[in-house]
Amino acid sequence: FVNAGINNLRRSNDKWHLYSGEQSWQADHVVVCAGMGSRDLLATLNRSVPLESQRGYHLQAPHPGVTLSRIVVLADRKIFMNPMQGQLRIAGTVEFGGTGKPMNEQRALLLKDHAQAGLDNLDTSGFTTWLGHRPCLPDSLPVIGPVADLPGLWTGFGHGHLGLTGSINTGRLLARAMAGQTSAHELTPFALSRFR
Ligand SMILES: Cc1cc2nc3c(=O)[nH]c(=O)nc-3n(C[C@H](O)[C@H](O)[C@H](O)COP(=O)(O)OP(=O)(O)OC[C@H]3O[C@@H](n4cnc5c(N)ncnc54)[C@H](O)[C@@H]3O)c2cc1C
Repeated sequence: FVNAGINNLRRSNDKWHLYSGEQSWQADHVVVCAGMGSRDLLATLNRSVPLESQRGYHLQAPHPGVTLSRIVVLADRKIFMNPMQGQLRIAGTVEFGGTGKPMNEQRALLLKDHAQAGLDNLDTSGFTTWLGHRPCLPDSLPVIGPVADLPGLWTGFGHGHLGLTGSINTGRLLARAMAGQTSAHELTPFALSRFR
């Protein structure tokens, strides 16, 4: 395993070359599964994809003073409260702001107000906040499978609000496809080429 930021992809002599600054690696197969970063990686190969982030926030209370035995959703307020080893993580909201803009702390703080409206005695002192990206496509389907005309290049991104949920099936589908065990038909709805 190598952990590195890839800034360029090139194909020559039947191999893929992955570049990270001065360093490079060769591979027979490459899977682009870099969340929002997938858009820029494919752009280095002149492939455009209408991927946009639905940014979301969470606020985590380290000693909430209330114990939830399961995930609780305040459906009218669209927030998700997750017990996390004694802590409480409150997540939600959707914001269009791309990948470059800093987080808007006020949005994370809104989560605190919503959670306190639902849980009496919730202690949020010492809270931390987080901004994450939901990589979304216009038809709400991910991009999974081989890239037409670029042999050995695969994709697995764009799962929007359900990337954790979808990850296992996407990994399984890709593994089967790379081993030649799926028909092309099976992955057609997820093809990158549907956006041409
Ligand atoms: C507030 C919030 C709540 C959510 N709740 C849920 C939920 O309850 N259930 C659910 O299923 N999903 C949920 N999601 C969505 C889920 O987090 C995403 O769909 C998922 O993280 C997408 O996974 P990914 O691996 O495609 O992208 P990411 O998780 O973004 O991972 C991509 C990785 O690629 C790396 N990368 C990017 N560019 C490069 C590059 N050029 N070179 C090398 N590495 C690169 C990044 O650093 C990152 O580590 C939530 C998201 C948010 C924001």
